[in-house]
Amino acid sequence: MKSFKNRVWLSTPTMHGEELKYIQEAYDSNWMSTIGENINESERIVCEKVGCRYAVGLASGTSALHMAVKLAGVKPGDRVFCTDMTFAATVNPVVYENGIPVFIDCERDTWNMDPVALEKAFQLYPEVKVVVAVHLYGTPAKLDDLRAICDAHGAMLIEDAAESLGATYKGRQTGSVGDFNVISFNGNKIITGSSGGMLLTNSAEAAAKVRKWSTQSREDAPWYQHEERGYNYRMSNVIAGVVRGQLPYLEQHVARKRAIYERYKAGLAGLPVTLNPYVEGEMEPNFWLSCLLINEEAMCFQTRKSCAAAYTDEPGKSCPTEILEKLAKVNAEGRPIWKPMHMQPIYKENEFVTAAGLYQNKKRDAIDNVGADIFHRGVCLPSDIKMTAEEQDAVIAVIRSCFD
Ligand SMILES: *Cc1c(COP(=O)(O)O)cnc(C)c1O
Repeated sequence: MKSFKNRVWLSTPTMHGEELKYIQEAYDSNWMSTIGENINESERIVCEKVGCRYAVGLASGTSALHMAVKLAGVKPGDRVFCTDMTFAATVNPVVYENGIPVFIDCERDTWNMDPVALEKAFQLYPEVKVVVAVHLYGTPAKLDDLRAICDAHGAMLIEDAAESLGATYKGRQTGSVGDFNVISFNGNKIITGSSGGMLLTNSAEAAAKVRKWSTQSREDAPWYQHEERGYNYRMSNVIAGVVRGQLPYLEQHVARKRAIYERYKAGLAGLPVTLNPYVEGEMEPNFWLSCLLINEEAMCFQTRKSCAAAYTDEPGKSCPTEILEKLAKVNAEGRPIWKPMHMQPIYKENEFVTAAGLYQNKKRDAIDNVGADIFHRGVCLPSDIKMTAEEQDAVIAVIRSCFD
């Protein structure tokens, strides 16, 4: 198989030119710091697109999550229910506040937090007041179910919509259903500011708090007067210029991501694989990353130690490790599915709840839960919107060859 001259990426920034205009405006007007028109406009446009009252521009999605966890009132020792299969940035902010993440397994329909497991978790820990749920790879979680369970137990819902800007659930944008929600403009997301993020909410009071906390918590006084802990988390007006230039292209990016997903679906037909699922008619993902899941019976032998993997090639079968290896050989970038948090050494003592109840297996690497299974059999495919149809067809041919 011929190798790509230019690397085919998982997901990289796609610029359009208007970003430069807004950066230039910031420069010419000398609003080069954390105040300015780019920030105001980006916040306004995001509110309009997502359908929320307030958006606060911050340095990153992670800092926005930290602010959300603070707004939700997480105190040292408080348990917080978090999606298990996700990027660590979803759960680390809970720990910044000395909260204790309890991981909730995902379900098969969307790969997101399983409402059945969440309800089980509330039976075990009825005192929990905060739930952090992710929309993985741009596919909305079952928001109605999660919201109803949170309401029934008097808990706040934080949506980590870092990967799902532009995705909808029953007509509502992700990031508009929870109490405090988060989007990210990291370089690999559906649109980017090079970095940056936002906290979204309908609460004027919450938005005001985040504006204050993120700019060092200064009181309204003639000198630097502090009554609360402060952070340097505000978005830069230069970064916001990039965001502002990208926002008009969100829908176009989503359309291209969808086309990539559909092309994989058609191109991989007949192989013993499925793509990352969603509930048709109920949700419209933004298709940020296309991922495939190998059928159980078509998995060759694969083992993973903490930092290395190995496999044994078998005719007609494959595994994520083989696919990633073959993609790398032709200069294409894939990635394993997010390794679930309950399997991460840093969180090995944390509780993990599945649809069957509290997880008791001391072997945290065991493939006896949904998250571990998807991690074992799943792989993220090149989903860069600058990938040409020819390049994608070549990627598909590589994947096909893995099953020869
Ligand atoms: C990217 C990402 C974040 C963090 O966003 P940053 O802007 O990189 O800090 C949080 N959660 C998920 C699920 C992400 O993919």
